[in-house]
Amino acid sequence: MDLEAKLKEIFGYEHFRNGQKQIIEQVLAGKDTLGILPTGAGKSICYQLPALLLDGVTLVVSPLISLMKDQVDSLNVTGIPATMLNSTIDESEVNFRMQEVQKGKIKLLFVAPERFESDRFRYFLQQLPLKLVAIDEAHCISQWGHDFRPSYVEFTNHLAELKNKPTLLALTATATPQVAKDIQTLLAISAKQTIKTGFLRENLRFEVAKGVDKRTFLKDYLQKHPQESGIIYASTRKEVEEITAFLCKAKFAATRYHAGLAENERQSNQEAFLYDEKPIMVATNAFGMGINKSNVRFVIHYNIPATIEAYYQEAGRAGRDGLDSDAILLFAPNDLRLRLYFIEQSESDELHKAHDYEKLRQMAAYANSETCLQRYILQYFGDEGADCGKCSNCLDERELTDITIDTQKVLSCVVRMQERFGKTAVAQVLVGSKNQKLASWHFEKLSTFGIMSTYSQKNVGELIDFLTAENYLTVSNGQFPVLRVSAKGKKVLTGKQKVMRRATFIADKRNLASDQF
Ligand code: ADP
Repeated sequence: MDLEAKLKEIFGYEHFRNGQKQIIEQVLAGKDTLGILPTGAGKSICYQLPALLLDGVTLVVSPLISLMKDQVDSLNVTGIPATMLNSTIDESEVNFRMQEVQKGKIKLLFVAPERFESDRFRYFLQQLPLKLVAIDEAHCISQWGHDFRPSYVEFTNHLAELKNKPTLLALTATATPQVAKDIQTLLAISAKQTIKTGFLRENLRFEVAKGVDKRTFLKDYLQKHPQESGIIYASTRKEVEEITAFLCKAKFAATRYHAGLAENERQSNQEAFLYDEKPIMVATNAFGMGINKSNVRFVIHYNIPATIEAYYQEAGRAGRDGLDSDAILLFAPNDLRLRLYFIEQSESDELHKAHDYEKLRQMAAYANSETCLQRYILQYFGDEGADCGKCSNCLDERELTDITIDTQKVLSCVVRMQERFGKTAVAQVLVGSKNQKLASWHFEKLSTFGIMSTYSQKNVGELIDFLTAENYLTVSNGQFPVLRVSAKGKKVLTGKQKVMRRATFIADKRNLASDQF
C-alpha cells in the first residue's frame, strides 16, 4: 500500500515525519508497538491513519477530556467518523454513541482509562471488531513516569482480557529508558517493537537565566519579542495570578490558566490564547496537555519544574511549527525549596519520595550545568548529541578558569567527612563555619576545615552544585542527600583530570538557598 498517497489524500500532508511511517507499518502488520516521539512530532497520525486503513474500530485511550474533544472535533472536521465517551456525556447520548459504534459507523472511539471500570463497557468492547487500541500518553502507566495514573494500570489489566486481541500501540513523548521498560513490561511489547526517534528538537534554543530579577527579565524579553505568542509557566496559582497582573499592568496581552479558575474562564482564556487575542499565557502545569498551538515562540519557566521530563514536555510546546523558538528557565535556587516542600508533603511512600528527590536533583543539575543544555537533556533521555552551539551555555563567552585546586579541596573534604554529609555541611566545613549543629562532629580537626574561608558559604555551595551537575560528585537519593566523590571526581583528586569553569566567584556572605542541592 502506498502510505504516502494515503497520508496526502486523507490528511493533506506531503511526507511522513520521522518515525511515523515505521510505526504505522508495524501497526498495520499487527505488531504491538511502543512509539516514543517528542512532543509535536505527530503521534496522532500514527493511530489515525491505521484506524482508517484497518476495518473495524480503533479505540484511543487518552487521559484528558479536553484533549479528546479537540481530537474528535478536528477529525470530524476532516470528515473522519470519530466519537468519544466520557463522564461529561449523559447516559442517553452514551447509549446512542455506543450504538453508532456497534453499527460500524465510527472508526475512532476515544475514551479515558476509567471507562474500563464499567462492566458494561468491557462487555461492549468484546462484541466489537476491535482492531487497534492506541494508548496515548502511555508514560502515565509507569510509576516512574512524571504523571503516573493508577487508572492506567487498571485498564492495562483489562486489555489482556479482550478476546478480539487488538493490536496495541502505546505512544509517549517522555520516556526515559526506565519508563520505556515499564511500558514494555506492562503491555508486553517487545523492545524490538519499540520505535524511538531522536529527542532532538533542532529549532529550540535553550537558556537558563540564573539569579536575574525575574520580572525585569520578563518585561525585557516581551518588549524585545512583540506580537509573539508564548507560555510562562509558574509553579503556584498565586504566582500565576501575580505575574498575570504584573504583565497586564505593563500592557502586555496576557491571560491566565490554572486549576483554581472556573471551567468557563479556563475555556475562554485558553481560546483567547489559541486565537492570539491574548498571545501570552501565564499558567501552572495544569495548562498545556493536548494544546496544539503551532506558533508558540517561547516557553519561559518562571520557576523550576519538578523533573526534566516535565520541563522538556512543557518547553516542547514551543516551536511546533518547526520555526526557531526559545525555551527559557529562570532559575533562582530558592525555588527549589517549594519543590522540596511539595515532595515532603506528598503522600507518596519513601521509595517514591526518594525517586522524586532524585528527579528534582537532575532538574537542578540542568540549571547548574555549564555544558550544552540541549545535550544535557538528550543524554538524560538516553540519546547522544553534539553541542547545539546556540544555547545559553554554548554561547557563554565568559573565560574559562582552571578550578582544579578548588575542586580538589571540595572533593577531599567530602572524602574526609567520610561521604556521609550533604552540601550544606560540606560547605560549612570548607569555609570554617562555627555552626553549632556541626560542633559535635569536631570537623575543625579535619585538614580541610576552613581551607576555603576566603569564599562565602553560598559560593562554595554553588561550586558544589556545579561539581554535582558535572558529575564530579554524586548525590544519594532521599530527603537528606549525601555527597560522594564519583569516578570522574577521583581522577581530579589524583591529578589525572583538570576542571574548568566559566562562572566567576563573587564574595558574598549570604546563606545557602537550599540545604538539599
Ligand atoms: P504530538 O501528539 O506528537 O505532540 P500531534 O499529533 O498533535 O503531535 O501533531 C503535531 C502537529 O503536527 C499537528 O498540527 C499535526 O497536524 C502535524 N503533523 C503531524 N504529522 C504531520 C506530517 N506528516 N506532516 C505535516 N504535519 C504533520
